[in-house]
Amino acid sequence: MITIKTKEEIEILAEGGKRLAFILQKLAKMVAPGVSTKELDTCAQEFALAGGDTPSFLHYQPDGAKRPYPASLCVSLNDEVVHGIPNEKSRRLKDGDIVSLDMGIVHKGLITDSAVTVIVGKGDAQARKLLKVTRDALQKGIEAARGGNRIGDIGHAIETFVAPHGFSHAEGLAGHGVGYAVHEDPYVPNTGRAGEGVVLKAGMVIAIEPMLNEGTGKIKLDQDGYTFRTRDGKRSAHFEHTIVITDGEPIVLTKNR
Ligand code: MG
Ligand code: MG
Repeated sequence: MITIKTKEEIEILAEGGKRLAFILQKLAKMVAPGVSTKELDTCAQEFALAGGDTPSFLHYQPDGAKRPYPASLCVSLNDEVVHGIPNEKSRRLKDGDIVSLDMGIVHKGLITDSAVTVIVGKGDAQARKLLKVTRDALQKGIEAARGGNRIGDIGHAIETFVAPHGFSHAEGLAGHGVGYAVHEDPYVPNTGRAGEGVVLKAGMVIAIEPMLNEGTGKIKLDQDGYTFRTRDGKRSAHFEHTIVITDGEPIVLTKNR
């Protein structure tokens, strides 16, 4: 079921989103050679709790998962697409690593979700291009998310923007509604046809999250039950914002304001 959030709920989501943006910005600044993924997770949890909020991924059990998610943050390195677990097999970051940081927080009972990808050090030209195209693809998706448009318009905008760059979309992964739960309807794919799917209405809150791979779009799930990797071992990047649909331009909730 697709829900419409009230004005009061959107105000809470906006405050939560602002807090989440600040946390992710602090975590992104910590990314450096030698820093461990576990340290990032510990800080993510501390930053959320310090503001009186809670991490929404910790102990969350998605449909089909065999166990609850064991961390506050997802840290996905290089060929890991999303849902990398930072605290079970902690790793130290190395120069050139591509690091996706994905987090959700619960603020006054309502959830926002956002992800950024950063490179440890300067990285190679292809890595920088992968990040830039993924970040810009998210922006294209956001621009298409206007009241009266359809879900397919978002995927179409992302897909047509990405196609000339030669990167592929992680297959089977998509954005989603969010707010009362970590994952709500509707499903928000990163590819699609213009004019198809659910009509976007003011008050809908969705997370748009392109995940682009350097090589194949095929992915595989690790033994840990969460970490998705590219099948060809090539690298992947991920950016995500939670937005609210309006009758005009959408409002990006998870950015620094
Ligand atoms: Mg996320
Ligand atoms: Mg998400």
